[in-house]
Amino acid sequence: MRIAYGGLHIECSTYNPVLNHADDFRILRGEAMTDNPYFAFLRDWDAQFLPTFHARAIAGGPVARRTYDAFKQDFLSRLQAHLPVDGVYLAMHGAMYVEGMEDAEGDWISATRALVGPDCPISVSYDLHGNVSQRIIDAIDMFSTYRTAPHIDVEETMRRAVSMLVKSLQTGIRPGVVWAPIPVVLPGERTSTEDEPAKSLYARLPAIDEAEAIWDASLMVGYVWADEPRATAAAIMTGTDARLLTQQAEALALAYWQARARFVFGCTTDTPEACVSMAIASPTAPVILADSGDNPTGGGVGDRADVLAELMRQQAQGVIVAGIADKPATDAAFQAGVGARLPLTLGATLDPAGGTASGEFEVVHLSDDARSRAKQALLRCGGITVVVADRRRPYHNLEDFALLGLDPRAARIVVVKSGYLSPELAPLANPNLMALSQGVVDQYVERLTRARKSHPTYPFDTDFAFVPAGIRSARFPAAQ
Ligand SMILES: [Zn+2]
Repeated sequence: MRIAYGGLHIECSTYNPVLNHADDFRILRGEAMTDNPYFAFLRDWDAQFLPTFHARAIAGGPVARRTYDAFKQDFLSRLQAHLPVDGVYLAMHGAMYVEGMEDAEGDWISATRALVGPDCPISVSYDLHGNVSQRIIDAIDMFSTYRTAPHIDVEETMRRAVSMLVKSLQTGIRPGVVWAPIPVVLPGERTSTEDEPAKSLYARLPAIDEAEAIWDASLMVGYVWADEPRATAAAIMTGTDARLLTQQAEALALAYWQARARFVFGCTTDTPEACVSMAIASPTAPVILADSGDNPTGGGVGDRADVLAELMRQQAQGVIVAGIADKPATDAAFQAGVGARLPLTLGATLDPAGGTASGEFEVVHLSDDARSRAKQALLRCGGITVVVADRRRPYHNLEDFALLGLDPRAARIVVVKSGYLSPELAPLANPNLMALSQGVVDQYVERLTRARKSHPTYPFDTDFAFVPAGIRSARFPAAQ
């Protein structure tokens, strides 16, 4: 059994002007994939897995066209060298946007189909914040997506996609895909599977695919910061009984639609000004304040300093701001050295539209640790310690703080560029506040410009009716 695998995994806000180039990705080619922990789970099947090309980056702006074309060429030529293969597994995110190209996964997946021909089964795994199109559905045979957000079932999902493929090859049974798009697209922060109504909706999935004819039940939230027609939620079923799959996809789509008005943020939200005031007044600590409009793991730029400016204006004390992507400030701090005092304007170094904060900062620590994948400087101004880094990156794990000698538990206020908090930070928050700050992943989605999204779509449009309709993949075996 020869199974080729590869893919391209990134989530791109089409509102983010900062392009991703090759050096923004973790790239694995050929044997490097076999040795990588990301794909170590493949050893659990008695099959020959043939590595091709896989690249992954944190969320951000569009992929530069040249970078995408080079990646695709690399992937396809490595895949071609393995032909003939019995099956293909693609590990994707699903919300990629390539400079000037909508439905980028549709391009990647249909190019894969064209190369391997009509008889080779293709199984795909996705992030539930990805977007799907008819072109994608028509090119694949099996599909599975995460069932948790925050994502704690990444490997489990990849395993489901591979299991289906192996099952199909071992039994000779060829499943198909049915999907039911839902004209709703909401931010992940309103659809966390730890909160209702998403919690109950996702809890339905394991029971659905217990039926023998249903191999996988997937529910897509979609990616709201993609201004593309395909950006919507969807129910997607893989299996062998088209009628049953259609029924189940439509029922799940209807349940999601009926719950649409109940998707709300799982924590207190307000303007940055109000959130900073609340944080200062909080009798408990640490307050973890999410600067949500600039969250790099959601596709934000990560270079904005407007929340910092507000903290300075209100003279907040005991604050850690982690962190701001600001290469010029990081370089200036390294040049000046620990103990130096520098007049700096932080922010808006990648996206000129971003907010800034000006003041005199003392350099208190410098870090050039390979584990951080960035040069970082700690700057202090009054009661505020700010992390600046020479590249975009999140601070969502305790190790990110520990490597800088920072303890978020000891702070009064911790500001992170995040939407819902990561599994490591969430238990520390006492309380958690989410600032509806400006940025290219603005959580106040109703104020996003909509040039390419489908109409009507909730919550942009609210006064319309909807009846779910399951659509079969063009590849669905005709007799089923
Ligand atoms: Zn996601």
